[in-house]
Amino acid sequence: MFSETAQKNGWCFMKYAICTFGCKVNQYESAVIEKSLKDAGFEKSEDIFSSDAVIINSCCVTENGDKKAKRLLMRIKNNDPSCVTVLAGCYPQAFGGEASKLGADILVGTENKDAIAAMIIKYKESGQAYTFSYGRPTEKLYRGNGHADMEKTRAYIKIEDGCDCFCSYCIIPYARGSVRSRGIAEIISEAEFQAGCGHKEIILVGINLSCYGKDIGLRLPDAVHAVCSVAGVERVRLSSLEPELLTRNDIERFAAEEKLCPHFHLSLQSGSAKTLERMNRRYTPAEYAETVAMIREYFPDCAITTDIMVGFAGETDREFEESCEFVKSIGFAGCHVFTYSVREGTAAAKRSDFVPKQTAAERYRIMSGIAAQQKAEFFERQKGQVREVLIQRRESAEYANGLTPQYVPVRLYGSSARKHDIVKVRIIGACGGDFCVGTEIS
Ligand code: SF4
Repeated sequence: MFSETAQKNGWCFMKYAICTFGCKVNQYESAVIEKSLKDAGFEKSEDIFSSDAVIINSCCVTENGDKKAKRLLMRIKNNDPSCVTVLAGCYPQAFGGEASKLGADILVGTENKDAIAAMIIKYKESGQAYTFSYGRPTEKLYRGNGHADMEKTRAYIKIEDGCDCFCSYCIIPYARGSVRSRGIAEIISEAEFQAGCGHKEIILVGINLSCYGKDIGLRLPDAVHAVCSVAGVERVRLSSLEPELLTRNDIERFAAEEKLCPHFHLSLQSGSAKTLERMNRRYTPAEYAETVAMIREYFPDCAITTDIMVGFAGETDREFEESCEFVKSIGFAGCHVFTYSVREGTAAAKRSDFVPKQTAAERYRIMSGIAAQQKAEFFERQKGQVREVLIQRRESAEYANGLTPQYVPVRLYGSSARKHDIVKVRIIGACGGDFCVGTEIS
């Protein structure tokens, strides 16, 4: 793959580090980058400050994501100006003009991430910086990563990219383009590979996973069925879903899959109808509650988790209270609470009724308190249940930590189970919303 000059100079044996920000899709794509670097002869370094090349796989869903990537880039450049820096992913894709002023040697958007190894070599050979061409991403290829990270007990498989929803606060459709779904044969082949390496749990990920198949005449349950049919795969989990896109038929089909984890992360964003409307979300709180009820009808023992945004533009005290009451009425097993941040280029960025930072911070505090209480209550309700626990880590001779299909962390005492084992456990206690305690049963 590399020129004689590259081989002679040892550039293909350079040490690299990857820093990943953001969602599970980004984590999957970092594994793709990692595979391409290893295949090219690069060596992994655990220390970013003693690496010859550092790849920052960025996220721009909030302002904080951009800041983290920028700060890290500056620190790496200040530490060693000769280190090759690659700024990749959603941030340069969505904010190319701004990102190009930061001094990264190579800028890559959300496409061509697996060509980064070749770009680094080319840069070393020619000293020529690379900048991707801006535009809405259209790449259709999914590179099965063929790389099993057995340090992790669960493998991600990306089956979808892109989103056409254009929620008024969200920059992602600009960074990721339209919905593009991966074909079933490729998904099966990657699931077979991961199962063959010993991964028992597969997590299906996408930018808007619920849209899977809309461009190729399929539905998400088709992909779920395909992965559940692979020998060696023992559990399949779905990442975040959009509530309005799930039909009764989809849920019925999910329920027919024994390997599918009864854990649904159903994105809410707000429990106020007016706020949802301004957000350009396509459901009301009542419709969201109906979808939750439908899921619980088929999965009585399931965990429903969600994302909640506080302090969106124009959110009044009354709307915030409605949101809190709605969250309480659902009884979530976990909520990711976050504060709205303006993303230039989105419809909401043009508004003038932004919530003062202090008010947003106070709302964050209140909503996080409600979320913590609900989680603790859910964990408390696990007591007495028998669950299959996938062991994640053996912390000491005394105990190991694992996860139930409902995504509840369990501390397991008096068991010799090892990482990657799935064991039957009775939940005997809960430590607030931190973890449950269990004993193995034969
Ligand atoms: S569904 Fe809305 S929030 Fe989710 S990625 Fe698409 S535009 Fe963003």
